[in-house]
Amino acid sequence: TDLAHIRNFSIVAHIDHGKSTLADRLIQFTGGLTTREMKDQVLDNMEIERERGITIKAQTVRLEYKAKNGETYTLNLMDTPGHVDFAYEVSRCLAACEGALLVVDASQGVEAQTLANVYQAIDMNLEIVPVLNKVDLPAAEPDRVKQQIEDVIGIDASDAIAISAKTGLNIEAVLEGVVTRLPAPKGKIGAPLKALLIDSWYDAYLGVVVLVRVIDGELNKGQKIRMMASGAAYQVERVGYFTPKQVLTDNLGPGEVGFITAQIKEVADTHIGDTITDDKKPADEALPGFKPAQQVVFCGLFPVDAAQFEDLRSALSRLHLNDASFTYEMETSAALGFGFRCGFLGLLHLEIIEERLEREFNLELIATAPSVIYRIHMTDGEVIELHNPADMPEVTKIEKIEEPWIRATVMVPDDYLGAVLKLCQDRRGEQIELTYAGNRAMVIYRLPLNEVVFDFYDRLKSVSRGYASFDYHLEGYHEGDLVKMSILVNEEPVDALSMIVNRQRAESRGRGMCEKLKDLIPRHLFKIPIQAAIGGKVIARETISALRKDVTAKCYGGDITRKRKLLDKQKEGKKKMRQFGKVDIPQEAFIAALKMD
Ligand code: GDP
Ligand code: MG
Repeated sequence: TDLAHIRNFSIVAHIDHGKSTLADRLIQFTGGLTTREMKDQVLDNMEIERERGITIKAQTVRLEYKAKNGETYTLNLMDTPGHVDFAYEVSRCLAACEGALLVVDASQGVEAQTLANVYQAIDMNLEIVPVLNKVDLPAAEPDRVKQQIEDVIGIDASDAIAISAKTGLNIEAVLEGVVTRLPAPKGKIGAPLKALLIDSWYDAYLGVVVLVRVIDGELNKGQKIRMMASGAAYQVERVGYFTPKQVLTDNLGPGEVGFITAQIKEVADTHIGDTITDDKKPADEALPGFKPAQQVVFCGLFPVDAAQFEDLRSALSRLHLNDASFTYEMETSAALGFGFRCGFLGLLHLEIIEERLEREFNLELIATAPSVIYRIHMTDGEVIELHNPADMPEVTKIEKIEEPWIRATVMVPDDYLGAVLKLCQDRRGEQIELTYAGNRAMVIYRLPLNEVVFDFYDRLKSVSRGYASFDYHLEGYHEGDLVKMSILVNEEPVDALSMIVNRQRAESRGRGMCEKLKDLIPRHLFKIPIQAAIGGKVIARETISALRKDVTAKCYGGDITRKRKLLDKQKEGKKKMRQFGKVDIPQEAFIAALKMD
């Protein structure tokens, strides 16, 4: 195809504003699939993605569109994930495009991730076409939202296209907008090959599949290529594209998006953002690369049943084949035995991986408290990056500890603003900005990431009845008054429950943990002290009283149901208990104890 007849674009939107529904409509309209083949939301193809209604892995499809001017265009639609944890996937998709459709739900208006995603697109100099979706809803206010796009984002929205992805209203206008308002790609066919490595994944039949955008030159079947950053050379086996069905072809030219396979062993051998060139006639310089995906949240994952350790290892390595953005390495815990310390892009990413391990691999897991990366400056000048509170050096050797801070944007209706401000304030936040757009407030806060990783999303959703939206990026490291808090059960420290906390907040956190554990650990035949301590100093304490044999033997009254429940629970959770010293700690205790109220 000649360049003038190609358009490469993404759809950027806040979660639930209709990106996937619109993508499906575009595929349907251009005939990429027959109605029979058209399953709901073809682009969200992982089970968890469908269930949670989120897109995790970026997908791309090629559409053929016969425009009103009589010409046929090749449109490459790159689907981007909407969630903040996957911002790096958004940026690599955008880098392969000339333009973007900005989809805003006309009944909701601009949300935090609308802003985050559209700013990325603007930063990359993409042409933006605003689209107002869900105009079929009685609550839709397209004119107000148009104005809001102009006020908040600062782009011209006078030609915004009002559509309903659900009913199919105005889908053709969107395709016309893509053809007439987005620029064609530029590129030289005679120049040495330069292609951007957008994504890669493992396919059971094809092996490692590499998604590419050709900038200059041609990518041919049989060609010997070289990855400029990694230096590795491969022979191209297959060249193709998705419609979303997989179609094989002989080559991809400038401006085209498609995939190749080349006997690459592992996804980890491919680097997102790398430049693919011809081995014999290489390009002079590589394309500007991407920042690699950064793991910001770490936690330990342990099998409930120690015998499942090898299963966990192989499950992690299988998942890693397709998602190289999480890391794992072996870890041992006195409390939990053998497991893995894993790094994730964010909390949602952590939850997704944990859920997939449990669901797809039938594993029962205990996850320890999520931790961020602390920078520990030692008195001898060494700087350590700490991912695991258990590895905290001796206090006397520490000069200072720095923790990561984020810059968070929250958009929330007026009515809930007070509750949101209080939440941010409670989490040691510093307010930077507070502005209004209509009846929605936009608040920008600086917050320590360690106050966000526990349950900030959940709290934010609950105090705003689900109306607040949230986005953040890492801002930098700042010194903090941080200490390691240990939890002792029956005088013995339980390493999996230790955490690094701000000193001022340690006591209330410690008290909260002890109270929770008191409720969660069943009574034993002896008294069990539960303590929170910093260094050798106990800052909170609870005691589980002993269960007297004679009392259990003939317990009656209100006590009996409670105890029966406890016993039943204990029975069903027999395997889920962890013996620690002489004390059995149920699996839920590890997770529940970490949630703050
Ligand atoms: P995404 O998260 O941006 O990919 O959003 P989805 O495409 O998954 O849509 C989120 C929800 O909004 C789904 O329940 C859709 O059925 C619904 N939806 C999408 N477009 C429209 C529309 O034009 N009108 C109405 N009423 N609902 C829509
Ligand atoms: Mg979606």
